[in-house]
This record gives sequence, structure tokens and C-alpha cells, in this order.
Amino acid sequence: MEVKLITHGVFFILLAAAARAQVNPEICRYPLGMTGGQIQDEDISASSQWSESTAARFGRLDFDNGDGDGAWCPDIMSEPAGLKEYLQVDLRSLHFITLVGTQGRHADGMGNEFAQRYMIKYSRDGKNWVGWHDRKGRQVIEGNRNAYDVVLKDLEPPIIARFVRFMPVTDHSMIVCMRVELYGCEWLDGLMSYSIPDGHQMIYRGLDVYFNDSVYDGASAERLTKGLGQLTDGTWGLDDFLHSHIYSMWPGYDYVGWSNKSFTKGYVEIIFDFDRVRNFTSMKVHCNNLFSRGVRIFKQATCYFRSGSEWETDPVTFRPTADRVSQIARFVTVPLGDHTATAIKCRFHFGDLWMLFSEVAFQSGSAVYNTSLTPRKHGHPTNTLPGDDPTHKVDDSNTRILIGCLVAIIAILLTIIVIILWRQVWQKMLEKASRRMLDDELTARLAVQTQAFSFHHSSLSTDDSSTSNSTYERIFPLCADYQEPSRLIRKLPEFAQTTENSGAGTLTGGSDSAPHYAEADIISLQESSDSTSHSITAVNMNLFAGTDSSMKEFPRHKLTFKEKLGEGQFGEVHLCEAEGMQDFLGEDLSIEGNNESPLLVAVKTLREDANKNARNDFLKEIRIMSRLRDPNIVRLLAVCVDTDPLCMITEYMENGDLNQFLCSLRLKQNTDQAETEQEEKDGESMDSYSKLIRMAVQIASGMKYLSSLNFVHRDLATRNCLVGKNYTIKIADFGMSRNLYRGDYYRIQGRAVLPIRWMSWESILLGKFTMASDVWAFGVTLWEILTLCKEQPYSQLSDEQVIENTGEFFRDQGKQVYLPKPPCCPERVYTDLMLSCWRRNAKERPSFQDIHIQLMESLA
Ligand code: ADP
Repeated sequence: MEVKLITHGVFFILLAAAARAQVNPEICRYPLGMTGGQIQDEDISASSQWSESTAARFGRLDFDNGDGDGAWCPDIMSEPAGLKEYLQVDLRSLHFITLVGTQGRHADGMGNEFAQRYMIKYSRDGKNWVGWHDRKGRQVIEGNRNAYDVVLKDLEPPIIARFVRFMPVTDHSMIVCMRVELYGCEWLDGLMSYSIPDGHQMIYRGLDVYFNDSVYDGASAERLTKGLGQLTDGTWGLDDFLHSHIYSMWPGYDYVGWSNKSFTKGYVEIIFDFDRVRNFTSMKVHCNNLFSRGVRIFKQATCYFRSGSEWETDPVTFRPTADRVSQIARFVTVPLGDHTATAIKCRFHFGDLWMLFSEVAFQSGSAVYNTSLTPRKHGHPTNTLPGDDPTHKVDDSNTRILIGCLVAIIAILLTIIVIILWRQVWQKMLEKASRRMLDDELTARLAVQTQAFSFHHSSLSTDDSSTSNSTYERIFPLCADYQEPSRLIRKLPEFAQTTENSGAGTLTGGSDSAPHYAEADIISLQESSDSTSHSITAVNMNLFAGTDSSMKEFPRHKLTFKEKLGEGQFGEVHLCEAEGMQDFLGEDLSIEGNNESPLLVAVKTLREDANKNARNDFLKEIRIMSRLRDPNIVRLLAVCVDTDPLCMITEYMENGDLNQFLCSLRLKQNTDQAETEQEEKDGESMDSYSKLIRMAVQIASGMKYLSSLNFVHRDLATRNCLVGKNYTIKIADFGMSRNLYRGDYYRIQGRAVLPIRWMSWESILLGKFTMASDVWAFGVTLWEILTLCKEQPYSQLSDEQVIENTGEFFRDQGKQVYLPKPPCCPERVYTDLMLSCWRRNAKERPSFQDIHIQLMESLA
């Protein structure tokens, strides 16, 4: 990447240097100093003035000098005929002027004089004056409509001049005042005039094509003399000479051109006169090369030089390589060998029938345009501070430019080196961060989180008796590290070694590939099943390598609504009869304990007004479930996704969710308890205990299956398990298994919603979800089962205290609070199993396989 950067940098610099050969009217729009003060008072003069306080020097645009009356105002009484009055600006050297601005006299509301129309005259030598006109010959420029607004006018064509006169077009009944500014840049070519044979007319397929120099401002006879025109207007012709940059002009407008037939000697002679003696490096001639129409670049240029009165005898001759392939118009550079001269006479030899030029530019020792590569079309003038005008910064030689380029390259390289070094140092610092620092960092974070919780706490109910679903209504603020947990994980000593206990222990990635067991990784793995960059083993990749399409579309009309079963995050869940489902699946479902016909199914429907995120999550849950097949995982039978509303059809679990089921079981027990003796109560309790453990065994079995796929559920809890016939338990609700690190998940008031009472400390603090954090949640689920969901986990703790307790788990100073042993839970199950699920070090937690075995053993 860095290498690319350097190459680009160098390329840019070289290109920028190369692009400085000729003036670019689109960026040559700098204020020349009426407002900024670079133009001195003595260089501003006028034909007359109304009074001393309206003298020429007050005619500066946007400039209210306290001494004056706020503008230049001519004495119109002295010259009632108008058109004779002018405000003159001497720029001290030739300038390329592209834009003018005018303003009236406002004087903070005291004045109301302005020029509605004006004309411009200019001169390069102060003797010969030329009236400016636009490309259509119009001389009068529309000026101001009020005394304060600045009106800018593009000069099309631009002018090359040292002296400029603004001439208000007045009638004697009106007092006019003006403030003006000129915009452009210094004319570094120093070309005062060129002399050429007048351009010819071509008849192309019956079309008149004029190659005359239509904006030439000198004398016109057989030869055009003492003027400048199209060859110096900064406009380069197009490849097809019939077309023009300028709208509604005649064919050939951009070019001055000649036919071979009229020149017996085979060349066109052009004489260039300069302002002073210059040391010429090169000349660039923009030529058309549409050879399919008989036009080619010149085949030879011979240039003579003159410093005094005589032309030197040793000319420079240059023969460009003829291009017989590309018809693109181009600049041809003629090296002038550092000749010193005040005039150059070049003979351009025809390469074909026609020779068309649109621009000529000269580079002489000190003359290099400081232009940029991004020309601007007809924008407002650049706001350049006085003294900042880049056109005035002219280097003395090409060596300086080269030195500048080198310095820039070195600066870029140094910057890159500093960035690389800084990155390395930063990474080392992270690695070396001591545990002590981490402690402080996390303590601080906990404090912040606690504060955040306190804030929300006041507005949220913390009713301890609320149902388990209320967990989802609590709001957990996500801090930056939570969004990007791998940052912190890498810093933790016990996590620094890359992978941790996964139950199946199948991760193979290094520490940088953060040992994510998170479902998000699995999904992305599924979606790019051929990727080898993920840390999941090939075996599991195969398991996920998409049989998504196996989930068939069930005909919606064959579903008959029976009753509403519940409501979830996506929408309602209905009990329905599914006609012909067995045939549809091609399976005998009676093996799975379903004998009804038509089959009863649960249909989960995405609510109609669901947003895109919810829709994606819903489809994601379908994708996940379609790949899971286990007796203890709720089975997805079919889908209706061809039309809205989206539906997933799952097997029906008669006894609803485990949380509610256990609550009702407890109620039955209470009734029993009230009516029975102590020993009967104990007997019932024992009976319930084994029933409960059998439920837990089924959940462990389902989780064992998920762990074999490296699938992290993230939201294991009794509320997310369903109860079928004969106490069959199946894990459900894969909808919460969302990627918590992406911004496009459900948030309540901008915050993620997390089941913090079921979450491991590292899930809460580090955002790390693994099989081991599912094991933690299993411990809580087991605790729920054995307490018959009588109360919420840590019901005596507020949300803030739960978070604080998480911090104690991290600090491990023996201050952490564990869920207490449920009354019916044998000591051994509590200490050996339940507490082991909540071990601080995730690696020391048991796998689901271990849990399954232990639970089975506890039944024996
Ligand atoms: P969500 O995951 O969107 O919160 P759930 O899947 O938990 O929604 O469904 C909401 C409720 O619908 C559950 O609590 C449960 O009572 C009922 N339910 C969902 N699926 C089934 C099913 N397969 N059999 C019976 N009841 C179900």
C-alpha cells in the first residue's frame, strides 16, 4: 500500500511539474490586487474625478477607504458625451486576465451610484489601445444593478495586457461611480504579439470551415500583425476540428489553419515578439492531427532567433515523429536550445494538405506557470490572500522545481516511515500492557457502565418479580471495546494464547484471528463456505456448507390457523394445521411422535411492518435452523418466503416455553404441598428433581450437538427452550443469535439489548461469545430449572449490581456473588457442575459433553 502511495505521490508531482507549461484560463482567476492592495495607488489613474474624495485610487472593489467617498466617480459634467471616461489600472507587467468585477458606490448607505454598463480597453505597451469585445463582437458589458453587489464578468476571450481601462457607458444625466477588480495571472510567456498569415477557409463536404484568427487584436491585412489572438487564448482545439469548445461557433472556430496549396515554399512563417530578452527552453504548439481529413502536425519546425535587429543565422530545427496511428490533437514540444532572444521566427513545414494550430506557448528560463491539475470551470475567483498569489511565485530555474519535487518525495517517504514506526510501537505497547493496567482499565469501564446503568435505572422498572422476558427490556450500553472485543481479548493474559475452551476444541486460528465462536462467524463461513481463512475446522465447514436450499417453500394456502401461541421479537407465533405436510416432507413424522393429520405446526410470522434489519434477522434464523437437525433442537419443517409475510413453520411444542411450563409446575407443587404431609412433599420433590434433571440433560444434549458444530447460541435460557409431549425439551430461538458487533441489529433507543443475567463475565466485559460462555448460560439455565423459574437469576441484584458483580468475576478477589444452590439441588451437582460453569477461566469450564455425562450420572 505504501509503495502505491509513493508511486502516486511521485507521479502526481511529476505530472504537476509537467502541467505547468501553458496558462490555464480555468484556474488563472486570481484577484490581481485592487482589493488586496498589491496594486499601488499610483498605478490606478482615471480620465477625471468628481472630487478628490472620489479619485481613482478609491476605485478598489470591496474596499472602503475612510478617506474617500467609497469609489471612483468621474466628472461627467466635464465630458457629457460619455464613453471617454475611464478608470485605468497599470498591472506593471503583462497579465492574462480572465475575469473582471465591478461594484458601485455604497459608502454604508450614503451612496447610490453605479455603472449599469461599461466597456473595457486594454494595452500591452501603454500606447496601442484595443477595445475588448466578446467572441460575437459585443463590446458593452452589463454592469451593476445596485450600489453594493459585486458583479463578475468572464472575459471570453481573455485578454493579455498590462494596462486595463474600465469605461462606464453613461449618459450625462447620471452620475456613475465604480469600484473594480481584475482577475487572472501573470503572463509568463512574455509574448507581446505574433504575426501570422491570415487563416484559410476549408470546404469540407459542402461545409464552410473557417480557420481565421477571429479574436486577433492586432492589425489585419494579408498578414496579421502586432496582436495576440486565438493562439494565446488558453483554449485548445478538439480532435475533430469541426467541433468547438465554444457553443454556437462556426466549424473550425478553435483553430487557425492554412492550406499547403497557398504556400509555395511548403511552410508557414510565424514571428513571435517578446517583452524583453529571454532565454528560451521550448515552444509548445497545439496541433490538430486528423489525418483522415488531410490535417497533420507539422513535419518540421525551423526557428530563428533575434536579440537585436538581425536574425541569427543558426536556426534550431526540429522534426517531430509523424504519428500515423492516433488522430488525437496534441501539444508538440519544440526544443529551443536555451537560445536568447526578443523575437523568434519559426517556419512550420506542412506534413499534409492542412496544418491547424490552436495554441502556442513558450517556456523561457524563469517562466513556469504554477498551475494545478484540477481546472475549475467558470467558478468564482479564488480567494487568495495578498501575497499568496501563486502566480507571483516564479522559480528561477528548472533545478529548483526538481529540488522541490525531491523534497516532496522525501517528505512523503518520511511520513510513511513515521506512520509504520508509530504503528509498531503502538502494537508493542498493547502487547506489553500489564495486567495491572488492564485491571484499572476494566475497573474504569465498569464504573462508566455502572453510571450508565444508574442513569437508565431511574427510568426503568427493576421489578424483581418480572418475568424472564423482562430481561430483554433492560438496556445495556455498548462501549467501544464491546463493539470490537478482540482489542481487549488480545490484552488479557489468559486469552492471549489464542483459543480457549470450546468444548469440542476445534479452533485452529492464531491470536489475531480472534477465537470467535460467535454465530456471526459461522454464518459468514456458511456464506463463503470455500473460505479457508476462518478458524473453523474443515469438518464443521462441511456441516455448514450450505444445504440451505433444502428448506422448501410450503404452499401457504395449506396452512389453517388454529390459535395464537405467543408473540416474539419478529411477530406472532400461531398454531396451524398444515395439510399434507408429511407428504410434502416425504417423511413419516409418526416416528418423531406426531400422528396427527393434518399435522399441527407452529408458524412464526414476520410482522408486516418489519424493517430491513428484522427481515434479514428473520431470514438468518431460517438459515441457521435449516442446518440444524437434532432431537433436542426445534425443527424447522418448511418456510413460506416467496411472498410476504415471511413465515417459518416449525414443529409444534404442545407445552410452550420451558420458563412458563416450570412456573406452572411449581404452582401445582405448591397446591400439593399445601395438602400433603412433609414426607410426601419430599417424595414429590425428589420425583420433580429427576424430572428436572432429565430436562437439563436434554438441553445439554442439544447444546452438545450445537457445540459439535461450533455453534454459539448466545441466548440459552429456559425462556428459549420449548416443551413438547412427555417433557421433551428442545432448544429454540435462534433469532437472538445475532451478530452484536454490527450496527444493524435491533437496538432500543440506540442500545443493544442483552440478557446480562445469563451472560458470562467475558461476554459482558469483552463482548466475547464462545461455547464456554454458552456453558456459563447453561449453568444459569440449570439453576432456573432447579428453582422452577421461581425467581429471576440474581433477583436481589439490580442490573447495575449484576454488572458490578461481573467486574468482581474479572478481578477474582473472592468478592463475586454466585447464584445460590437451589433447595432441591444436591450439593455435588451444585459445586461440581453448576459452579464449574461459572469459572472465571473459560478454559476451566466443562464442555457440554462433560456436562451431559455428569447430569446423566447424577440421575443414576
Ligand atoms: P421470539 O424468538 O421471536 O421471541 P419465540 O420463538 O420465542 O419468539 O416465540 C414466542 C412464543 O411463542 C414462545 O414463548 C412460545 O410460547 C411460543 N412458541 C414459539 N414457537 C413455538 C412452537 N414451536 N411450539 C409452541 N409454541 C411456540
